[in-house]
Amino acid sequence: MAPAVKFVSFLLVFALLPLSLFGCSGEKYDTKTIYAFNTMIELKIPKTSSSAELLVECEKWIFTYESIFSAYDKDSELSNLNKNAGIPSTMSDHLENVIKSALFLASKTNGAFDPTVGELVELWAISDPDAPIPSESSISSALALTGYERISLSDGVFVAESGVKLDLGGIAKGYLAEQISTFLIDSGVEFGVLSFGGNIAAFGEKPDASPFKIGIKNPAGGTFGSIKINSDEDRSASFVSVTGTYERFKTVNGVKYHHIIDPKNGYPVSNGLVSVAVLCENGAYADALSTALFVMGYDEALKFYAESGIAFEAVFTFEDGRVLTTENCDFSPS
Ligand code: AMP
Ligand code: MG
Repeated sequence: MAPAVKFVSFLLVFALLPLSLFGCSGEKYDTKTIYAFNTMIELKIPKTSSSAELLVECEKWIFTYESIFSAYDKDSELSNLNKNAGIPSTMSDHLENVIKSALFLASKTNGAFDPTVGELVELWAISDPDAPIPSESSISSALALTGYERISLSDGVFVAESGVKLDLGGIAKGYLAEQISTFLIDSGVEFGVLSFGGNIAAFGEKPDASPFKIGIKNPAGGTFGSIKINSDEDRSASFVSVTGTYERFKTVNGVKYHHIIDPKNGYPVSNGLVSVAVLCENGAYADALSTALFVMGYDEALKFYAESGIAFEAVFTFEDGRVLTTENCDFSPS
């Protein structure tokens, strides 16, 4: 039984500095902060005789996953797959798992989530403040290389049309969250909270059995409120992922351009939403659905919620300050 630790405020706030992720004393916990996947990763589990060693093991796994999924590392498995577009290729189980989930969700969301946005993402170069805003003709050319129907995966063989670039930035961190939490659960860790840049995994039962609370950042300051995740004695994990215009963006000539691309027109989405947070029992789905619902917009997202057959809840925040949720979302406004 874990020691009776007081969680003064187990409120997690996305996109804040790691130390402010946890409102309790570090003494009875082991934590690890890792910079990988172009973001800050924070792992926090109760201190035991094996916790430090387990976190070192997690760190190794995270770098291994990065060498598979990174779009920035030109030698990652994903980059090599992209270099081979046009040639049938085999891949590791992890890459296959994520591409399978990405294709499933691309088809379910009618392409609102589309892993073939790689060429568009490179063109917009949101993380490079000096890169020019793409011309209409360059966007048209990139759109001709976009569309999940241009790729296929069957019997472990991946085929992409020549020039098509996969970008798994909207799903890989959620998959990573699920893999690392499964590893910790299987290693006997009682509970924990893991943060992978906008993707949070919470698992296990806290000593006081109170729920985990995941804060949704208000870019104007503070939080819009928090989603509750029941602390669960069967130790299975839940995932909350957020997609927001304030996560990655650049401003050129006074206009803000963010990183969520509408695969249908090639431009950053503009539909009045500021962020979409998704709670789901599947980490990769939580991650990809937050992107997909953002692209769909609120009305279409609610239709998807009712009809998709995928179990999830969501919180939508808007530029005009509104905060709306799906029907069964346990959300408390600030
Ligand atoms: P997230 O913050 O999880 O929503 O992921 C956003 C990242 O996913 C971006 O930085 C892109 O790399 C990629 N992306 C952008 N738009 C899309 C889209 N419509 N479908 C799939 N991936 C996308
Ligand atoms: Mg996402």
